[in-house]
Amino acid sequence: MTPATTQPVRVLLLGGTGDALKIARQLGPADVYSLAGLGKVPEDLSCEVRVGGFGGSEGLARYIESEKITLVIDATHPYAAQISANAVRACAAARVPCWALRRPGWQAQSGDDWRMVGDWHELVAALAPFRRPLFTLGREPLAHLDEIPPHQFWTVRCLESHKDSPRARILAARGPFTLEGERALFALQAFDVVVSKNSGGSATEAKLEVARERRLPVIMLRRPALPATDREFDDVADLLHALRA
Ligand code: NAP
Repeated sequence: MTPATTQPVRVLLLGGTGDALKIARQLGPADVYSLAGLGKVPEDLSCEVRVGGFGGSEGLARYIESEKITLVIDATHPYAAQISANAVRACAAARVPCWALRRPGWQAQSGDDWRMVGDWHELVAALAPFRRPLFTLGREPLAHLDEIPPHQFWTVRCLESHKDSPRARILAARGPFTLEGERALFALQAFDVVVSKNSGGSATEAKLEVARERRLPVIMLRRPALPATDREFDDVADLLHALRA
């Protein structure tokens, strides 16, 4: 499906990532940038910004119809599988095209020791031999601070601030992270394993380079399956080019 040509294009951009913000900066006053409401809300955009869920795919379909949206662009994080599935369902119901920015994942390089896991349960099992993990996969570990085994001390880096516990340090931080900064952090904290999502992109990639330098294993949470959309782009510039065309 391509955007309807009989009415002016009105884009709904689903975001919450640095790449989505780059797209949002190119949108105009007729367009809408949508955020779940977990992070910072930009105040310097030309487009409308809305914050908060739609109420599932039905709510999103109603929003698309009532706001006369002609094109939805899913530029959410590769692990935000629910909103991506909702977008495809809602677009089909509202009969508007859905495009997606699907950021390519990182690839293990020669000598890397990546241990792939599918869920929290597998992750905990893979973590058992280690003592000082660095978690870089968001807030999920915060729900498990009472379950840290006696031989482990966790460092959890995520957006939220949270009080430290006797067995964990919480680092509230937002990328991008530099190579120098990551080198300093790893040296100071003597991590023996990194726990990560395969987010792709450059903003949080430096930790993998430092893990490689220090020959540390990486426990990598597999990407969720995402639905096919009408058009997919792996690069912001290509998507913007198609949008202008
Ligand atoms: P999710 O599980 O796919 O979505 C949960 C619910 O949050 C959705 O059903 C929807 O609520 C609402 N939602 C998500 N993105 C939205 C958006 N852009 N605009 C309006 N509502 C949205 O998502 P998640 O993994 O919790 O991530 C939430 C947001 O954080 C996403 O927008 C994502 O881009 C961003 N983010 C996620 C990660 C990650 O690792 N998951 C990392 C960085 C940034 P309703 O059903 O009520 O519409």
